[in-house]
Amino acid sequence: DLILFWHRRDLRISDNTGLDAARKRSAKVVGVFCLDPDILERDDVAPARVTYMIGCLDALKHRYTQVGSQLLILRGNPVQTIPALAKALNAKAVFWNWDVEPYAQTRDRLVIDALKEKGIEFLHQSWDQILHSPKEIHTSSQSPYTVYSPFWKNWSSKAKAKPLATLENATGLTENEQEIAKQAGVIQLPSAKDLGFIWHRELIISPGETAAQGKLEEFIAQNITEYKEQRNFPSVDGTSRLSAALKFGVIGIRTVWQATLEAQEHSRSEEAQGSIRTWQQELAWREFYQHAMYHFPQLAQGAYRDSFKNFPWQNNPKHFQAWCEGKTGYPIVDAAMGQLNETGWMHNRCRMIVASFLTKDLIINPQWGEKYFMQKLIDGDLSANNGGWQWSASSGMDPKPLRIFNPASQAQKFDAEGEYIRQWVSKLRSVDTEYLVTGKISSLERHRLSYPQPIVDHKVQQALFKTLYQQQKEIT
Ligand code: FAD
Repeated sequence: DLILFWHRRDLRISDNTGLDAARKRSAKVVGVFCLDPDILERDDVAPARVTYMIGCLDALKHRYTQVGSQLLILRGNPVQTIPALAKALNAKAVFWNWDVEPYAQTRDRLVIDALKEKGIEFLHQSWDQILHSPKEIHTSSQSPYTVYSPFWKNWSSKAKAKPLATLENATGLTENEQEIAKQAGVIQLPSAKDLGFIWHRELIISPGETAAQGKLEEFIAQNITEYKEQRNFPSVDGTSRLSAALKFGVIGIRTVWQATLEAQEHSRSEEAQGSIRTWQQELAWREFYQHAMYHFPQLAQGAYRDSFKNFPWQNNPKHFQAWCEGKTGYPIVDAAMGQLNETGWMHNRCRMIVASFLTKDLIINPQWGEKYFMQKLIDGDLSANNGGWQWSASSGMDPKPLRIFNPASQAQKFDAEGEYIRQWVSKLRSVDTEYLVTGKISSLERHRLSYPQPIVDHKVQQALFKTLYQQQKEIT
């Protein structure tokens, strides 16, 4: 009996819950991926992200061939394409893994209805990209958590599943069935360029399962025991850079977790143990935001807190443009935006700095920044990005009410030698470190280097933001 396994954010054949379940039912498991125009034609899709995804699909295709089966590519609305293919191939069942995003939830319900209408009743879904289902982690009164610390306490105390077996010895479609699949809409995998996305630079992580596994092993062997300290410095390559692989499920979360447990076993020092724990906590932040998106889909629409629902954002388009282009006149902010624009990735410390700057210094609606990030990030992910922006804007679930980063003190602390700034703002390479990190570069010098004057005054804007914030709090 043929089972179709519909890949979405799980572009791998190892440690894949739904695929493992499918293989247990039948040897004849064939993968399918649908290029959905409703996603690809949105105005917040990053060329780096599509390029990475297409590379991962290409790698996945090879993996399927290696184990004796195929990956079929469709293009169109999955509500039509998936049921039509399943029907044409007379598939016994369609399996897939759940997704927390509101769009995916609605789409999946429609696909289920359409499959049933076509007489395909055997459907199977499982949780895969998170270690615990959103329903499994709740407060003593059965409500979802809205604060991270108690979430972490509960989540980390629960036993985690072990990695699952890699698909092997599968049977694919016969030649005749392949012909039928073609007639039912199966196409060759297009390039990112065919889809209208051009990315000329090297990707920060190579596509595919093998590369993701390699990146994990490298991080565990070289960086995890010093992560707690090193992760704060944007000029240091001290984080895993696994975010795009985790976003597209190119590596299984159980595999990642297991690697952290093994690292714990092999580490003696308290410092190393603390570092591993800190990295585990980042994985839990990822999961916290996914659970939050599942329980509170309204997060995707804007501020969680009432006091931010009608906030008088100034939304100056010129300021926004300067921020996007890294021309604010604040060296650390401009460096970070340079890294994003050039590589499709930004260090976490800098994501926090530029998000605080956009919302608290430029007083621009965080949704503008959130969207710009999605247009650029290789790892752009609704739950994590929205969570990060709401945290930075103080509009989200986080209990600490107001957090305003001072760009100069952030740079002094985390880029004390100005290495990161010099790397991403080449115009400032020759500036003395002290002036570089504090941003106290004279007007004349800025002019000479063709580097912009600061577009706003941090102190003035900070005070203004606080006043607006107080007023809103009193109204709501
Ligand atoms: P590591 O430090 O090695 O962390 C390991 C993994 O944990 C990451 O790959 C990621 O999957 C997860 N993770 C780490 N920190 C966070 C966090 N704060 N929230 C959620 N998950 C986390 N992350 C995304 O994956 N996609 C986004 O679109 C995204 N947008 C962000 C926007 C803002 C404003 C902020 C402040 C943070 C955002 N993050 C996002 C979180 C974080 O910055 C990135 O996950 C991290 O920088 C990726 O680098 P890494 O893989 O080396 O992370």
